[in-house]
Order: sequence, then structure tokens, then C-alpha cells
Amino acid sequence: MARYGIPQISTGDILRAIKNDPVKAQTPKASMAKDLMEQGLLVPDELVNELVANRLTEPDTQRGYILDGYPRTINQAEWIDTHLSAARTSLPLVAISIVVDYEQLLHRITGRRISPAGRIYNIYSNPPAVPGICDVDGSTLTQRPDDTEAVFIERMKTFNTQTAPVVEHYRKQGRFREINGDQPVEAVSEAIMTALQALRST
Ligand code: AMP
Repeated sequence: MARYGIPQISTGDILRAIKNDPVKAQTPKASMAKDLMEQGLLVPDELVNELVANRLTEPDTQRGYILDGYPRTINQAEWIDTHLSAARTSLPLVAISIVVDYEQLLHRITGRRISPAGRIYNIYSNPPAVPGICDVDGSTLTQRPDDTEAVFIERMKTFNTQTAPVVEHYRKQGRFREINGDQPVEAVSEAIMTALQALRST
């Protein structure tokens, strides 16, 4: 985001914002989405595609954007591919898959703690100075309801059945790179930048 001055669009963040909004959370669609998220299942493609379509009409997306956690099914991938070609955007879609092994992911997910302002800690790899308290503003850290081991197992099953085919979809298209996510943050960032530069010039 900082290097290119473009926004990150996380469908998970958008869905959590709806879930936590006292008014929006009341709709049947929102309460269905909440149930699915808490079970580690995907919310319906039509709902997610509509959220992405709306977000992409905002002016800060004109110069590009990072889609994070989307597309997660072949239907979503086909929808965004079609949407972008219909929009005749000059921005080519490039796909990056960050690969981390099962045990490491389990620790990242079950150890994750979040501050109300969105700062992310990990009790194993990046703990706050005082357990449960944000170093920066002293707020109380919380855990996402789907960051338990039981839901993690379901999320991994969902990934393997529904999202792994999306990786193959973009691998076949060529504008795709795989990055080793099991490195320090700076090394992962550099690997992403190198991949992006290579993909943008193809
Ligand atoms: P995330 O924050 O990306 O881990 O997403 C949290 C949860 O939100 C997922 O486990 C799904 O239930 C839902 N979700 C996020 N992005 C999508 C998507 N692209 N398609 C379907 N469900 C999604």
C-alpha cells in the first residue's frame, strides 16, 4: 500500500465491518454471513462479488488496488476476470500466492490477537509487552472468533477444496507468482515487490 499508494481491499475486513455494524448486521444476509464465517465456510459468491463491485467504484481504486483474500472460488475468479475486461481497465490483474506450511499457519492463526485500531500481534512470534494489552494505545486485544484451532481446520479444508483451484486458474494464465511466506516480514515484502515488478513488465 505504502510503496504504490494504493488501497488494500480485504473481503474478510469488509464482511467483519458489516458483522460489527449494529444496523447492517441485522439483515438476513449479514447474519447468514456471520454464521458461515464463524464455521470457517465461505460466504456466497454473489454477496462477495457485489461487495467487491461496490468497493471498486470508489475513486481511490483508480490507480490500482490489492485484493486480499479474494477471489477465493473459481466463480469469483471468473467474475473478477470478466468484470475487469468489461471495465476495459488498463490495469492487468496479477496474482500472488503466499505459501506457508500447515503448522506455521496454525500458530499464526491461533496466536493472533488484534487491537480495536487493527494492530496485529501474535502471542508466539510478536507478543505485546503486557499480555492482552496493545503496546501503542493500551487497548484490550481480542481474538477473532474464527481464529480457534477447530475453525482453522475447517478453513484449511475450505481452502483445499475451493481456493486451491483458484491458484491453478491463475498459474495457468501466467500472470502469477508463488512467494515463500515463511520468512521475516521484510523478506516477504521484498519477494512480493520483485514478483510484482516482473509481472508488470510481462
Ligand atoms: P479472512 O479475513 O480473509 O480470513 O476471511 C474471514 C472469513 O470471511 C472467511 O473464512 C470467509 O468466511 C469470509 N470471506 C472472506 N473473503 C471471502 C471470499 N472472497 N469469499 C467468500 N468468503 C469470504
